[in-house]
Amino acid sequence: MTSHAILTDEHEALRGSVRRFVDAELRPHVDEWEDAGMFPDEVFRRCGELGFLGLHYDERWGGSGGDLAASLVFVEELGRCGCGAISMAVAVQTHMCTPALAEFGSDDLRERYLRPAIAGAKIGAIALTEPDAGSDVARITTRAVRDGDTWVLNGRKMFITNGTRAHFLTLAAQTEPGACHRGVTLFVVDTGLLGVSVSRKLDKLGMRASDTAEIALDDVRVPAANLIGPEPGQGFAQLSWQLQYERLSGAAQSLGQADEVLARTIEYAKRRRAFGRALADNQVIAHNLADAATELAAARALTYDTIWRVQHGEYPVAEISMAKKYAAQMQNRLADACLQVFGGYGYLNEEPVSRAWRDARLQRIGAGTDEIMNEIIAKRLGIRG
Ligand SMILES: Cc1cc2nc3c(=O)[nH]c(=O)nc-3n(C[C@H](O)[C@H](O)[C@H](O)COP(=O)(O)OP(=O)(O)OC[C@H]3O[C@@H](n4cnc5c(N)ncnc54)[C@H](O)[C@@H]3O)c2cc1C
Repeated sequence: MTSHAILTDEHEALRGSVRRFVDAELRPHVDEWEDAGMFPDEVFRRCGELGFLGLHYDERWGGSGGDLAASLVFVEELGRCGCGAISMAVAVQTHMCTPALAEFGSDDLRERYLRPAIAGAKIGAIALTEPDAGSDVARITTRAVRDGDTWVLNGRKMFITNGTRAHFLTLAAQTEPGACHRGVTLFVVDTGLLGVSVSRKLDKLGMRASDTAEIALDDVRVPAANLIGPEPGQGFAQLSWQLQYERLSGAAQSLGQADEVLARTIEYAKRRRAFGRALADNQVIAHNLADAATELAAARALTYDTIWRVQHGEYPVAEISMAKKYAAQMQNRLADACLQVFGGYGYLNEEPVSRAWRDARLQRIGAGTDEIMNEIIAKRLGIRG
């Protein structure tokens, strides 16, 4: 189902390598990791060793110098491991906490954080959300005050994926109170600094094998050299750009996760018998799954068409928001239809379809909710000012 012109033989070869890695090194362990509420750091290191974490980054920093499509094929395939938490957490490393660092960071910052992130030696997190500011990022209150060669940070960050184990945070703080988005500044904050602490690990509905934390910053002295960009106040523009990567990776995750659960459900519908025939021999069940497959194909076409636009020099913000939103909604409808096919077994935690259903729900919230995607689309299309 990957016939879009953007995908070359090299992309398909990459897809094959990732699939082999997923089948051999992830899938056999995901139940155990889900129960433990954490997958091992070793997964990042192994992905780095295989060259998967820097597919679209410059060779100068240890990347492969490939295109955006390659990095998203990786995320899509990772989504097929049967545990959404892994593709989400690894995509934080590849598409959420590193793009702004790679694009706007100094060489010194790239050397200290991007290179080890691509190698899988350092785990990163993106710290935007706060207890009182999620969708409305411009309203963050984490404060950064300049003091000589350092910035002193105080505040709280909420819902931070990889937050209990991250070596660094790409963090948004306010450097000019009252300036709203014009005062937002991005810093790379080493979590080894005095004053950075995990206030709590959060217990979640789904994505249970990934750690999500609330993080406290109390008088944290961040070196001035760790500011991303030449001067403060550029963070909102940098984030608006970085979020496009984050959203495309969200769409790619949805495709892979949906593909996996649909394949599993088709196999079950052909095997499970009721009233003397296979479930799949009931027209209503076959048609529901045919509808799900059609929606998945539409989401994939929209996503790869949007990637094609990005790679041909466009900045298609509306289409990226559409792809992210549509793929997430498609995944939720599909996971629900699949769970129904499993009947009572679908409701058991031991059956992976229930995990797929829980994991899917986050996709409509993280990286910008459905409503925020609609706001962006409506503004870009001139539906509202
Ligand atoms: C498991 C998980 C992992 C996460 N990982 C990270 C991470 O790594 N880093 C990070 O920074 N954040 C992370 N987040 C936070 C996530 O990005 C936010 O939850 C999300 O952006 C929504 O913010 P909020 O929860 O504060 O909701 P709010 O902004 O309070 O919104 C609540 C509801 O109101 C709606 N709403 C808000 N404004 C409008 C409007 N103008 N019009 C219509 N509806 C509106 C929203 O769509 C939503 O439905 C994560 C969240 C979860 C649950």
